[in-house]
Order: sequence, then C-alpha cells, then structure tokens
Amino acid sequence: MHRNFKPSGNNRSRFAPHKRRGSGPKQSTVHYSRYINKAVTKEEDVPYEPTHTFDTFGLNPRTAATLRHLSFTKPSAIQDQSIPPALLGKDIIGLANTGTGKTAAFLLPTIEKLNANPVLSSVLILAPTRELAQQIDAEFRRFAAGQKLFSALIVGGANINRQIQQVKRGPHIIVGTPGRVKDLIDRRVLRLQAVNTFVLDEADRMCDMGFEKDIRTIEAELPKDRQTFCFSATMTPNIKAIVEQFMNAPETISVVKNQTNDHIEQDVVHTRDKAHKIEILTELLSQPEFEKVIVFGETKHGVQRLADNLSNNNLPAAAIHGNKSQSQRERALHSFKTNQVSILVATDVAARGIDVDGVSHVINFDPPQVYEDYVHRIGRTGRAGKPGKALTFVGQK
Ligand code: AMP
Repeated sequence: MHRNFKPSGNNRSRFAPHKRRGSGPKQSTVHYSRYINKAVTKEEDVPYEPTHTFDTFGLNPRTAATLRHLSFTKPSAIQDQSIPPALLGKDIIGLANTGTGKTAAFLLPTIEKLNANPVLSSVLILAPTRELAQQIDAEFRRFAAGQKLFSALIVGGANINRQIQQVKRGPHIIVGTPGRVKDLIDRRVLRLQAVNTFVLDEADRMCDMGFEKDIRTIEAELPKDRQTFCFSATMTPNIKAIVEQFMNAPETISVVKNQTNDHIEQDVVHTRDKAHKIEILTELLSQPEFEKVIVFGETKHGVQRLADNLSNNNLPAAAIHGNKSQSQRERALHSFKTNQVSILVATDVAARGIDVDGVSHVINFDPPQVYEDYVHRIGRTGRAGKPGKALTFVGQK
C-alpha cells in the first residue's frame, strides 16, 4: 500500500528498475529511465529577450490594441523571429512545440495580409485534430475581433451541413482537419483557387495520424503562387519532403530547445497491476497539490472506464477520446478548462494540441507507445514557464 505516497524527485530509490511482463495489447517501446528528469530550477531559466515589441512589428493599430487588451506584452521567441519575415511574405518553417505561441506567429501576419486584401477563402489552415483546429479558430476570432474578417471551422465529427453553409457564406479563412477539408473539396463545396496563405500546423502530428496523402491532395488544389507556413515540433523525413515540395525558399525558425521542457519535473511510479494502478492514482489525485491533472490512458474504453471509476470515487473526472462526439468532447474540455472538474482523462489523439492553462500534473496511467507521444503528453503541463510535474506509471498492466 502506498498510503502516504508523495512523489518527488527525492524518493526515486523506491522506483526500482522493472521488467515488463504484462500481456497488455501493446508494449511501450520507451525505456522507463527516459521518464525521469529532475526539473531545472527557475533561476537557471534565461528568459527570452525579444528584439521586437508587438508595436514595432508594424501591425495595424486595431490588432495592436487587441493584443494589448489580451495582455500580450512581449512576443515569444517564435513570434519575435518569424513575424518579421512572414510580414515580408516569406515562407516559414517553424520548429516549435505547443505552448510557444506558434499560433499567433502565423495568425498575426495572416491577419495583416487579410487587412490589406480581404479576399474570401484566401487562407487555409490545416491542423491534426478538431480541438487544435478549434483553438486556432478561437485565437483568430480573438486577434481579429471587430475587423470584419470571418472564419469557418471545417472539422470531422461535427455536422457537415452546417459547415457547408458556413463555407457558402464566404469566410476569409478556413481552419480545418485534412479529412473533412478534402471531403468538402470532393463535394465541390470548398474551392481553393483564391488561397494565397497556406498553413500546416503540427505537420508532424498530421503525418503521424495518416493525413499525409490528404494533405498532398489538398495542396495540389492550391495556387502555386502563395505563402506557406509549416509548423512542426520535429523535422522528420516526410516533413522534409513536404517542405521541399510545398515551399518556396523557406526561412527556418527553430525554438525547440530540447525535447522536453526543462522545468517539468518527471518521475516514474512503480506499479504492480491494474488494481494497484487505480489505487495509487486515487491516492495521488486526492492530494491537494494535484490541482489540475490530465491522466493519459491508452484506449478509448480504458479512458472512459477510468474516468467513471474516478468519478464514482468522489474524484469527478471528464473524459475525452475518439468514441465521443464532437459536442461531448467540447463539453468535457470546457468543464476541465473552467475548473468544474479538476481531472481530465484522455487518449493521446484526443488530447493532441489542447491548450489548457494551469495544468499542475500530467499522469501517464498507461505508458506512451513512443517517446514523441511522451513529449507531447507532458507538454500539457509546465506551460508559459510555470512549473509542472509529470508522473509515469511503469509496471504490469
Ligand atoms: P500556442 O503555442 O500558440 O498554443 O499558445 C499558447 C498560449 O499562449 C495561448 O493561450 C496563447 O493565447 C498564449 N500566448 C501566445 N503568445 C503570447 C504572448 N506573446 N503573450 C502572452 N500570451 C501569449
């Protein structure tokens, strides 16, 4: 029993090396030692000193005022370095993780361009998940507030007829997931001959999720004379191929320092079996410092069962996974964002790109399949320079 279990970097000795003997559906390929990393203390973090301010970028006064209103005081590294060349019309490869401010890095120059020339359906933004597409759309609406610039969100799992109506109304920008965008092209609802700005956000995730073919089909519909942004956390061979084919003399801006955030304290929790995992999880989540927690599970059913189990144990939890409808996912995410529940149980795919402030802990109830998923998972905490903790359960299923 782990009644007084308190995870910390100092009690690592109790987490002995462990051989996996479980017969679960899939084995993680990641050695547990990669889940252990003492957080670098805040004092050692050198804050990025931007060379620009939002005023010196030369953005239109309306956008500049909106940014002030949103308390965007200093550009982040990716914004500082990519907004000036983007405003000159250059193609940009941005190597950046979520939480770095990459969305504003491509949206602000896009809004400038639309202000100068508000052509309908001239901006196409592709993102791997509905949630990320939705967040981009929401950011666009915030930045372009009061500017008579309109967007349409074209994502799978939501009512297609409503989306068709939205596209027919003539938005300036279209934000979508590749599958649904391709669907609307095939139905001849979406016409892309006016596109002069094409954005691929989290291109590596889109390729991981099998969207490469759809992306290529969509790109073939676009005018060649356009500006292209490609954001990715990693530069894999298929991203390199896409970049070479889709982009024109791109400028690369990298703000990926190392693979995991230095200020996220990472540790493992040794577990015996399923019941023990649930027991430890319940104990952890009952501790007051576990204020806002994302718990990752492997399967859709497992995630739902775990959330139900926690909720039945007086630990109200929301769940997001692929078996939920778009509106159910939105409701779950909203209840977590607004602190109606302090626990969100999620699968990797459902959680990709979600942006929630103040997540104190990420718990990997099931280990990630590949290290890259681990990096994405733990990147949900420790955002905006805040400290965060990531715990990974290792042991039998
Ligand atoms: P992103 O990496 O684009 O998902 O952004 C992460 C979060 O940081 C979002 O909630 C943004 O609204 C916010 N953000 C982005 N850039 C800035 C900035 N320069 N100042 C303050 N907040 C920002």
